[in-house]
Amino acid sequence: MADDRLSEIQARVRDADFVLVGLGEEFAYDWNALLQDARYREIEEETGGAQEYVWITPFLQKMILRQRRRDRWTCAYQNLESMIAGKNYFVVSLCMDDYIYDTALDREKIVTPCGGFRKMQCDRNCSHMLTELPEESYEAVLQYYRKELPLYALREPVCEKCGAGLRFNQLGVTRYAEEGYLENWSKYTKWLQGTVNRSLCVLELGVGMEYPTVIRFPFEKIVLYNQKAILYRIHSALWQIGGELGDRGCSVREDPIDWLGWYDAGQA
Ligand SMILES: [Zn+2]
Repeated sequence: MADDRLSEIQARVRDADFVLVGLGEEFAYDWNALLQDARYREIEEETGGAQEYVWITPFLQKMILRQRRRDRWTCAYQNLESMIAGKNYFVVSLCMDDYIYDTALDREKIVTPCGGFRKMQCDRNCSHMLTELPEESYEAVLQYYRKELPLYALREPVCEKCGAGLRFNQLGVTRYAEEGYLENWSKYTKWLQGTVNRSLCVLELGVGMEYPTVIRFPFEKIVLYNQKAILYRIHSALWQIGGELGDRGCSVREDPIDWLGWYDAGQA
């Protein structure tokens, strides 16, 4: 069941010179799904939240991300991809689940300022360098998950320079290495400059108030100053838009993952 709003937005996207997409909290993968996994619950009990084992959970998250099959998120991303394919787009995402990097969307046209699971960093960011996933540590966690290795055999991977723990390059570490996204962020700001006074369709999907200064507030400002821009805010609870955008600010009160699931690429 596609709604009228969806066809309207499809048409707007098709006609716009530029399409700016923001993905927020409601678009993020639900890590509670991990709790449905019996072995995961067992591991939680075994490690008992002890500080020395905290590093294991993100490795298990990485494992789940690598194993995932078709789910509501892959579906939503595929539909987003079909909707903006062939357009001059840029996607800014607060999601840390890396789903977007499994799509055919151009990686040069994506920025994920909260990081994810693609690179690792020193917890203290002593060298401002990002490193690759240590496959041997990852493999050891998998073996532990499969009960082929005991918990005491696991060793936390550490920074070669200072000995602090290695962490996935994402918000939540002691000192987040922004080096992971700054290059694409500058591509984004350059791209934005090119949209001034051009027709621009802005799609904001599930962006709440967690980091409003990254997407929500700036997107409103972009549309306010560009008379040829229109904003569609899709959110299940925080769909409201201030009156200053007039009819160039449109709200859709829906869960963005469900909503995009209705999109029929065949109609585009
Ligand atoms: Zn270090």
